Amino acid sequence: MIAAEKLGVNIYDFDGEFTENVPLGQKSWFRCGGSVDLLYEPDDMNDLARFLKYYPSDSQLTVLGGMANTIIRDGGVRGCVVQLGKPFAEINVQGTKIMAGAGALNGSVAAAAAKVGIGGLEFLSGIPGTVGGALRMNAGAYGAEVKDVLSGAMALSRQGAFLPLLPDEMDMRYRYCGVPEGTVFVGAIFEGKAEDKGEVKRRLKEIKSKRQTTQPISEKTGGSTFANPSDAELEMAGLPVGTKAWQLVESVGGRDLQIGGARMSDKHLNFMINAGDATASDLEDLGDELIKRVQDEKGVALHWEIRRIGERL
Ligand SMILES: Cc1cc2nc3c(=O)[nH]c(=O)nc-3n(C[C@H](O)[C@H](O)[C@H](O)COP(=O)(O)OP(=O)(O)OC[C@H]3O[C@@H](n4cnc5c(N)ncnc54)[C@H](O)[C@@H]3O)c2cc1C
Repeated sequence: MIAAEKLGVNIYDFDGEFTENVPLGQKSWFRCGGSVDLLYEPDDMNDLARFLKYYPSDSQLTVLGGMANTIIRDGGVRGCVVQLGKPFAEINVQGTKIMAGAGALNGSVAAAAAKVGIGGLEFLSGIPGTVGGALRMNAGAYGAEVKDVLSGAMALSRQGAFLPLLPDEMDMRYRYCGVPEGTVFVGAIFEGKAEDKGEVKRRLKEIKSKRQTTQPISEKTGGSTFANPSDAELEMAGLPVGTKAWQLVESVGGRDLQIGGARMSDKHLNFMINAGDATASDLEDLGDELIKRVQDEKGVALHWEIRRIGERL
């Protein structure tokens, strides 16, 4: 394994699986972008902790979940990508608490909660991807976000030390988590409230049908492209408080803008889509062009919510 050797990794020291030159971009929600030099799928937490301890601190390390919020650039990702799979996807229920591995799908957590009548976690059903990604992004929908239902998280530091984390220590804000980048979340404890099962399931269904009518969920997309500007940013620009990112995109001609195979969805103007044969550069150029137009014409800085990783070609 040339890539592993170059990175100083002896793959036989670990139980997890290593694969070289993996076309991960094609597996992302956008279905475009390059390959990663080395993909590591750990066997369990001890395996991962050992790997992190021995992985050279000057070699590049990236953590990925379901890639529902990520553009993998066309030139690919150098170094090692850690992706938590099945061994980290366990979900256990205790009273009104749900313990979920960071590789569990958000939708599975919401379904497990509904099954036993734990209310408050339904919003997770509308958020593609994994618990690890949801912690990092403080993902949210329909008026709720991860920090509202989080009672604790488990993580490993970049050096492999176990870190039990309380929500107060995580500085979670709108689509932001202050835990240092490089930390790998391995699990979370969510807490909801005991409710009638039928009522929780009804709300799940409601969210499903709302998503189908308002979001391009069957397209190649990555969710909201830009974070909504804060009230302070809008006020400074003399724009009405509450103006959403999609309204700013619309106001600068975003509905008709297409770069290569990338455009904004007609269904939701803050959702960028790969309309066919977009490259990762098309997507990123489209986002950057919209940021420029909104800054020039409206005086507000839009910020990417979608993460972009790797190298441009
Ligand atoms: C159709 C669609 C609808 C969406 N709707 C919403 C929505 O309503 N609300 C919302 O908030 N988001 C939404 N998203 C975006 C996305 O679903 C969320 O951001 C989700 O939390 C991403 O999870 P992921 O596992 O795919 O993360 P990835 O895209 O793989 O990674 C995102 C970030 O999380 C980090 N990360 C992933 N796993 C770990 C881990 N174990 N430890 C540490 N860091 C980690 C990555 O390094 C990266 O920085 C939507 C996306 C799509 C495609």
